[in-house]
Amino acid sequence: MAKQENNDIKEVCAFCGRDINHVNTFVPSMFKGIGVCDDCLREINKAMAEEKRLHNHISNENIDLKTPREIFSFLNQYVIGQERAKKILSVAVYNHYKRLNYIAGGKKVDDVELDKSNIIMIGETGTGKTLLARTIANLLNVPFCIADATTLTQAGYVGEDVENILTRLLQNADYDVEKAQKGIVFIDEIDKIAKKGDNPSITRDVSGEGVQQSLLKILEGTIVNVPPEGGRKHPEQKFIQVDTRNILFIAAGAFDGIERNIAARMNSHAIGFSESLQRDHIDTEEYLKYAQPQDLKKFGLIPELIGRFPVLTSLDKLDAKALKRILVEPKNAITKQYQKLFEMDGKQLYFDDNALDYFVQTALDYSLGARGLRSIMENVMNDLMFMAPDEKDKQEITITKEYAEKILENEILNTANKK
Ligand code: ADP
Repeated sequence: MAKQENNDIKEVCAFCGRDINHVNTFVPSMFKGIGVCDDCLREINKAMAEEKRLHNHISNENIDLKTPREIFSFLNQYVIGQERAKKILSVAVYNHYKRLNYIAGGKKVDDVELDKSNIIMIGETGTGKTLLARTIANLLNVPFCIADATTLTQAGYVGEDVENILTRLLQNADYDVEKAQKGIVFIDEIDKIAKKGDNPSITRDVSGEGVQQSLLKILEGTIVNVPPEGGRKHPEQKFIQVDTRNILFIAAGAFDGIERNIAARMNSHAIGFSESLQRDHIDTEEYLKYAQPQDLKKFGLIPELIGRFPVLTSLDKLDAKALKRILVEPKNAITKQYQKLFEMDGKQLYFDDNALDYFVQTALDYSLGARGLRSIMENVMNDLMFMAPDEKDKQEITITKEYAEKILENEILNTANKK
């Protein structure tokens, strides 16, 4: 609004009494000469947010707490295998939200300090790490966001500020700060910000340690100034303050080559301490399940960061059997999704068992893992989805191995010709 030129009717803020010429923005009211200034509006908003916060505490607006068993069986509906990780996650998530509800209930955690149970997961890409975290967030109906650690940068460098992670969480919580503060942040590719260690097989960001330090800031449980629209920080930007104390952080990474650190540690211990811990007692293929915080340190994560993730678990490789189950078993299994799509056109879709085996084998041959199953099937199904809606007389469709093979071979030929 234009500043007032004549002083006949003085427009003043009803709260602070300053006149229109001494404020940045003035919102007039229905009463002549009376309005509210931007500073007072901000104060009012703050007071309302605080009121809401207190109200939430009193009304005990807690997360609907599920027991570890309930969490586990919910995860079972969506995630195949990974029993160890599911069990550990179920307990960690249960403890986290139990602690949170306890505090929200107005009770003080007096003599015993309950630490947050941030989780770190180690496992090859496409084994279900993101899926696990996302499924838990769905179950608890809390805001969820995924951050890619490789895009992060230490303050002042080119790249994304760590605060932007929280921007995404806020956006996914529709800017409800209270809700965001109980959300889950999934930090992917945490292994890629390891500092250069003594493992030569991995190319790492030299500034990794700086990024780890920046991450600590939000993990530590402080009030973070979050730019509501993301982007780089600049002095005029307004921030939303987010308390990260009760946000659950789940980090994940493939940690390529970490099994060597684990093996080295275990074998030296086996020689030093116990005859029973001989090499043949250790599943060499599956060293990951014996991962310990010190292996992460050796890999290049700084101890302060490791300390912020007290719960450590690993995921197993997915073999052919697991991949096949992934195709058909989860509640939202890919084959079920296609069947639903065809059903909407009034058609029954079937998959021959051989066809399923063929999808699995192709995913394994190309080392695509579970993530590749979808793209393989998408290729196979595309022609059918293009034609089926017009083929009114065809009510039943069965995908055979021969059909899938023909399509994929053509597909591979086409791609090869394009190169
Ligand atoms: P990661 O985070 O370990 O790289 P994702 O969780 O993103 O892998 O998995 C990619 C996709 O593969 C998922 O969306 C899901 O469709 C499928 N998938 C992977 N692992 C599993 C699993 N254990 N059970 C069911 N589906 C899985």
